[in-house]
Formats: sequence, C-alpha cells, structure tokens
Amino acid sequence: TFRHFIETYVDDIRYGFRKYSRDDNFEVRQGPKAKGAITVQYPDEKIAVPERFRFVPFLVVEDHDHPERPDHIWCTSCGICAKVCPPQCIWIVRGQDPNTGRPVPEPQAFFIDIDICMNCGYCAEFCPFDAIKMDHDYELASYDRTSNHIFDKDRLSKPLSYWKTIAPTTAYEEMEARGGWDHPDVIKEKKKQARAAAKAAKAGSAPAAKKAAPAKKQLSPEEAEKAKAERLAKREAALARKRAREAQEKQDGE
Ligand code: SF4
Ligand code: SF4
Repeated sequence: TFRHFIETYVDDIRYGFRKYSRDDNFEVRQGPKAKGAITVQYPDEKIAVPERFRFVPFLVVEDHDHPERPDHIWCTSCGICAKVCPPQCIWIVRGQDPNTGRPVPEPQAFFIDIDICMNCGYCAEFCPFDAIKMDHDYELASYDRTSNHIFDKDRLSKPLSYWKTIAPTTAYEEMEARGGWDHPDVIKEKKKQARAAAKAAKAGSAPAAKKAAPAKKQLSPEEAEKAKAERLAKREAALARKRAREAQEKQDGE
C-alpha cells in the first residue's frame, strides 16, 4: 500500500539511514516492529524464518554429550513416515541384531530423496516417536542431479539440541506431552521402573525391587526357531484340548 511505501522512508530516517549498514539494526528491522518495505542483502543477510517454517525433514538423534545414549537415533524404523509420505520419497532399511537376526528398533539405513520431497511435513506429523522433524535449512541447491540429493541417515541426522534451537516452542510442547526430554520409549521404561520400585517398596521389599531384572537371554537363530516351534506346539495342543472339551459338552447336551 501507499502507507507501507511511505513507512519505508520513515523507517530510513528513524535509523539515520544506517538501516542496512549496521549489523545490530538487522534483527530490529526484521522484527515485529519493522515497517515499510524490507530489502535483504541475500546471501549476506537472510530473512529469519518463522518457527513453523518447514523444508526437508531431518532425523532427531541424542546429543553427543547425552549421559546414557550419546548420538542415539530416535527413529525406531517403524515405517509409518514412509507409508504416509505422499510422493513416496522415504526409504528405510530396518536394523537387525547381528547375532540373532532379529529386527531391532533402529534403522540400518534411511534415505530421503529431497528432490521429490514436497515439504508437506506429514512424516513429522505422523511419527509416533517425535523422531523426524522439518528443518529450516533451505539452501540445498547444487549442480549435482544424481545422488547428492538423496540424503542418507548420516546426512539426515541432527541432534535434539538443534531442534530445540530452531523450534523452541514446539520442542517444549512436545517435551511436555511426552513427559520429558528423553525418547518416548525411555520415558515409558523409566515410568515402568518407577512403578515397579514403588510397588516393591510398598510391599516392604524395596531392596529386592532395586535389584535389576535378569537380562533376557540372547537366543541363537536355532534356539529361537526351536522356542518358536515349542510355543506353536503348545498352542495347538491347547486348541485341540479345547475342541475336544467342546465336542464332549455338545455330546453330553444331546
Ligand atoms: S515414523 Fe518416525 S520412528 Fe517411524 S520410521 Fe519414520 S521417523 Fe522412524
Ligand atoms: S515432508 Fe512430506 S514429502 Fe517430504 S519426506 Fe516428509 S512426508 Fe514425504
């Protein structure tokens, strides 16, 4: 509007024509009180993006100095983000335990083709573990049209502290909803342990409760297969007993 145009000159006078030359004026003229048309000397200057701005996604990992799980990735490789992604640009390879061959809740590989990603944010919305977030880094252009824009797990991973910096309000709201700054599974486990300790203390056996639960024995693939077969056989035997009982009851009724 004409008023907007005039305000540009009013603001120029207010800053004593140092609107663009002094660094400390930069944040002020981009702030909520700034008036008039704003020119940004890109790429030396960049307009601050709002907190809810979204570009390509990134994967949340624990900070490097985390006391219990440094650099641990939050993604459990559940695959929900890959399912909901409209242009299908997410590719996940589920992690496996090298000893047992069983799946582990961690991606072995995670790729996003950022040329196909349409920045919709569905992946971040649907992730049940707050493990994928929308980044603010929009300077991703390059001359390479081959593999440079297929981001792998390393390139996608950024620490939780980064998310707190670019989206402090959202990060705080999410933390409150989860019940702490930890991964949802860690919070759940801690709550479970606290409940068990409280129960044991109530029963007068607090020291016993403190004792760590025996670690689950790691089975070899053959042992796992055998255990599975035994479980199946037991289930089938129980089913056969149930059927025989029902047939007997039916016969008695007649
Ligand atoms: S929805 Fe979240 S936890 Fe599941 S695979 Fe995607 S990023 Fe990982
Ligand atoms: S932002 Fe949208 S298009 Fe991009 S990876 Fe996530 S779901 Fe897919």
